[in-house]
Amino acid sequence: MEKLILFNTLKRKKEEFIPIEPGIAKIYCCGPTVYNFAHIGNLRAYFFEDILKRVLLYNDYKVEHVMNITDVGHLVSDDDEGEDKMEKGSAREGKTVWEIANFYTEAFKKDIALLNIIPPTIYCKATDNIKEQIDMIICLEKKGFTYVTSDGVYYDTSKFPEYGKLAKLDIEGLEEGKRIEFSSEKKNKTDFALWKFSPKGERRQMEWKSPWGTGFPGWHIECSAMSQKYLGETFDIHCGGVDHIPIHHTNEIAQAEACSGKKFVNYWLHGEFLIEEKGKMSKSAEKFLRLQILIEKGYSPLDYRYFLLMTHYRKKIKFSFENLDAARNGFNNLKTKIAEVKANIKDSNVIDIAKTGKYLDKYIGCINDDLNAGEGLALTWEMLKDETLNPSEKILLINVFDKIFGLDLDKIEAIKINLNIPAEIIELAEKRKKAKISKDFKLADEMRNQIKEKGYEVVDEKSGEYSIRVLS
Ligand code: AMP
Ligand code: ZN
Repeated sequence: MEKLILFNTLKRKKEEFIPIEPGIAKIYCCGPTVYNFAHIGNLRAYFFEDILKRVLLYNDYKVEHVMNITDVGHLVSDDDEGEDKMEKGSAREGKTVWEIANFYTEAFKKDIALLNIIPPTIYCKATDNIKEQIDMIICLEKKGFTYVTSDGVYYDTSKFPEYGKLAKLDIEGLEEGKRIEFSSEKKNKTDFALWKFSPKGERRQMEWKSPWGTGFPGWHIECSAMSQKYLGETFDIHCGGVDHIPIHHTNEIAQAEACSGKKFVNYWLHGEFLIEEKGKMSKSAEKFLRLQILIEKGYSPLDYRYFLLMTHYRKKIKFSFENLDAARNGFNNLKTKIAEVKANIKDSNVIDIAKTGKYLDKYIGCINDDLNAGEGLALTWEMLKDETLNPSEKILLINVFDKIFGLDLDKIEAIKINLNIPAEIIELAEKRKKAKISKDFKLADEMRNQIKEKGYEVVDEKSGEYSIRVLS
């Protein structure tokens, strides 16, 4: 098998992936803060992690994949320092923080299922692991890494000489990070809260007793505590978006390594951002783009998956509906091409292992080169146009490639049926699809009836596409 090469942020270079235990890849991915829906930028991070996981599986690794659910409010955000996101969600919707957390956790799981993202082996909630977080703070306290102020327990970053190694931080010149809890009693700019006290005389919806006083954990401690609980003190891969490099992951390393005295993670992988024309995508904004909005506009979740697939995970993507339309066209062309190839399969086709093997080698060359699935997509087109391959060989390769793409290319049968349907029926079905998108359900029903009268039936697929069958 070809070597699997990954770009390790820790070393700022590509390296061969060598797991701690042969045949097993242990990965931890920072999950959602469940005070609102995920925006399509967040979903890009989980998509990149899905490609990583699928590539590891393709390379025959058993993957132990852990993802946290941040259901504790932390007192920071990109633009509203000091506010608790969970309490903010609770006030916004008139529900308890626990209800908010449950609702948005389920919404998150639905989104990733629609995008064909394979769920983690273990989801772990911050609120289910408060004891583990307190234990880690006790460990840090015993080793002299903490101090107490009037509002919480803090990590003294000056005690950890390697602080900032992941981000190659210039500690002296560092401005106070946006996601670091503000406190005038902090000893160093980079110090961060491990435990925050509930404000005096106030009862928070989420608070726990601790050796230092009633309160709640700082937001970095959950990832250090839970990743080590489920994957061990040192594990293989830790992922997240690039925004996590300078603070969240830097602080996770400081906590975990100070406590265990061992290296925390061997490979750090970070996905670049999806940006909008107007700049950074933010959940704090009143209106933000989420998957459901794309679906309401008539795109299928897999159109969005294809859109993401086209760009390497370490490159920024500028989101626009024009770009999404272009991706959808490309995806439709691919599906039509595959449907045509399928329609031409003959029983007499035999598979020539040497010919398919050549493409499989090229394919693994793409995906094992730092997860370059986009190049794999280009190779797919090259393969489909190769006249020396017969239809059965092409479909075999498509089904293998789709193990990474996750585009349901093996389910394209429906379009094959459409190919044999009269153009008049397809026209009516297309009109119905457009009517549904613009929520003109009366017209959509009318089209369905007209199709029925002509002896056909439209069947809606989960992917957002439809198939047409002949009524017997
Ligand atoms: P959050 O819920 O804000 O903690 O973010 C969840 C995941 O989404 C993290 O891995 C972030 O790094 C990532 N993320 C946030 N915004 C974007 C974006 N615009 N594009 C890609 N990833 C993002
Ligand atoms: Zn994390």
